[in-house]
Amino acid sequence: MDVFGLTCGELADEFGRRYGKGMFHAAALYREIFKNGNETFTHAPEFAASFALAGKIAGDMRTPACRIQSRIDDGEVVKFATALTDGCVVESVIIPTQGRTTLCVSSQVGCQMGCRFCVTGSMGFVRNLTVSEIVWQVWAARFLLHHAVDNIVFMGMGEPMDNLDAVIQAVRVMIDQRGLSIPPNHVSVSTAGHGDGIRRLAAIRPAHLRLAVSLNAVTDALRSRLMPINRKYPLAQLKDALMAFPANKRDFILIGYVLLAGVNDSIEDADRLAVFLEGLPARVNLIAYNGADDSPFTAPDDAEMIGFRDRLVERNIFVRIRQSRGRKVMAACGQLGASLAKDGRRSGS
Ligand code: SF4
Repeated sequence: MDVFGLTCGELADEFGRRYGKGMFHAAALYREIFKNGNETFTHAPEFAASFALAGKIAGDMRTPACRIQSRIDDGEVVKFATALTDGCVVESVIIPTQGRTTLCVSSQVGCQMGCRFCVTGSMGFVRNLTVSEIVWQVWAARFLLHHAVDNIVFMGMGEPMDNLDAVIQAVRVMIDQRGLSIPPNHVSVSTAGHGDGIRRLAAIRPAHLRLAVSLNAVTDALRSRLMPINRKYPLAQLKDALMAFPANKRDFILIGYVLLAGVNDSIEDADRLAVFLEGLPARVNLIAYNGADDSPFTAPDDAEMIGFRDRLVERNIFVRIRQSRGRKVMAACGQLGASLAKDGRRSGS
């Protein structure tokens, strides 16, 4: 019984099938694990009169045998590496911002998308994470590292749309009010532009879950060069998928645009971006590139970034320059996995 992979309701159903019990006991177990951060539940008062049942459940239940292998701090930003049972390692980043604590979670070991500016992409794909391994990152950030995480972005290692069933089930567990209780509109699932994945997400997402798109170029020639997924889903198809994504008044699609000096940061690019966004309920985050040491790309200077932003503002685009935090510890956007070997294991371990 994989507790980290189940909502409380699903756990109650499982208790019904296995033990003839229901929500009373399931909610107690769920509270101990996900609200109180305990690894056991047998001390809960709901089990005081049922020692035999508690023992049987404890014997049947599985929690992820993950462990925090390392953590590195850069000011308030914390990057931590999780060692999985098969020796693979994934990285996650805790980013406190005003009034919120964001956790950037990974959904895969490595990534097959091969975006040219991304360290994870250079690893290639190793495997998908399970639901439990995704949820464990949130549990560990809260209860092992003691950060009050209340905002989740699937912008760590991996393309979430390539592991969408696990990602959606993980989100359902994260937002369960009897457990981790992350508000659904504080969860963003990001994609490099997987058109079919966006359509599927629209169909199966929990209400208010947010979509984020890593766009980064607005001509097919450049985008296909930077992000090979664009060959499968060119900009016109991506726009169609985004236009079909349901949005109520308070919903918006987050567009990430990493600025690469001399590559995608001209005023003409800003104009093309504004045209691409016409008709979309979009907000744009501009992020200066964070390079690996041997990268062919560099970040534009502040004046160029401000010029790009101002051009978008003139064209009535909601846009912010996001400071990419955690650069020193390779925890910023596109930097995760820098210390891992190609097989997804820790270099040198
Ligand atoms: S940017 Fe995202 S989708 Fe692209 S290679 Fe990196 S992890 Fe994969």
